[in-house]
Amino acid sequence: MPKPIVLLYEPFHDDGLALLGQKTEVRYASSLDEERLLTEVADVDAIIIRANGGVSRRLMEAAPHLKVIGRHGVGVEKIDLAAAAERGIVVVNTPEANTESVAEHCLGMMLVLAKWMRRADEATRQGVWRARYEYIGDELYGKTLGLLGFGRIGQRVAQLCRRALDMSVLYYDIFEYPEAAAAVKARRVSLDELLAQSDVLSVHVPLLPSTRGLLGEAELRLMKPGAYIINTARAAIVEEAALVTALRQGRLAGAGLDVFGDEPAPVDNPFFALDNVIVTPHMAAHTQEAMRRMAKTVVTDVIAVLAREQPRYPVNVREFSR
Ligand code: NAD
Repeated sequence: MPKPIVLLYEPFHDDGLALLGQKTEVRYASSLDEERLLTEVADVDAIIIRANGGVSRRLMEAAPHLKVIGRHGVGVEKIDLAAAAERGIVVVNTPEANTESVAEHCLGMMLVLAKWMRRADEATRQGVWRARYEYIGDELYGKTLGLLGFGRIGQRVAQLCRRALDMSVLYYDIFEYPEAAAAVKARRVSLDELLAQSDVLSVHVPLLPSTRGLLGEAELRLMKPGAYIINTARAAIVEEAALVTALRQGRLAGAGLDVFGDEPAPVDNPFFALDNVIVTPHMAAHTQEAMRRMAKTVVTDVIAVLAREQPRYPVNVREFSR
């Protein structure tokens, strides 16, 4: 029996590749340009993508043997889910694999901001020792953490901040999560109260029509003066121009940003000129542990679907169980 053929858009952790190689023939896309991809999918049984490149209806039509599309990571916005459902193609992703990494990244950003570490690091390297008298930071102990979104990552951030720093936790979410909330003594509040009460606001909702621009100029004005904001979710949830203004004016004390409207972010991005902002290149999920977990999880599910078994993390679950 020939092995099923799996096309990878990008390589990933060796542990996942080794597992995949045992059960399938692994091929790499020569380019993520759709015209090129169209010529490379005629005989593939599975496609695994990471953050770059998508799987359009046109591509699916050119891949008559395609049974499963794996997303190494979470966001499936670049996969035409309706087209996949129509063709009975299962889509799987790795929603739990990077929760811990992203939550720790948030905590790291909070600490770097509150302790002025970015500016202090620069000053120290430049021999500006008096910075120790000028950069007087804040303790996070006992402060209020506000979570916009109390799903997997939001809940883990709540645990870290509650257990490590005794922070009070407020959250705004369309779901209640009573048990998770009770475990960290978190209180569900309105968006307005969240904005008004939080010393640190961390964004953990997905980008959806209902969350796009959820924090615009008016909402940012409702935030507690001197608060910090962390966004590791998606840039379009927070209006970037309004946030730049709030940070320039000092209404907000600082921001930690892992996501940008334009990615890769160009060097003239206005946030880069602000020294009360810490930025990372959409890498909150990129730890050794999460990379290994994402690779093994997506590979396990792709192999399961190819073996006609139930995957653990189907995205289009209804279509699969039909
Ligand atoms: P999740 O689905 O577990 O949680 C999202 C929460 O948002 C849910 O509780 C949901 O009820 C809530 N929500 C949805 N729409 C809402 C609305 N309109 N108003 C209020 N609440 C709403 O997701 P997660 O695993 O916690 O991830 C959150 C987001 O983080 C992802 O969607 C993704 O965009 C982002 N993310 C970023 C990285 C990174 O590398 N920076 C990595 C993983 C995830």
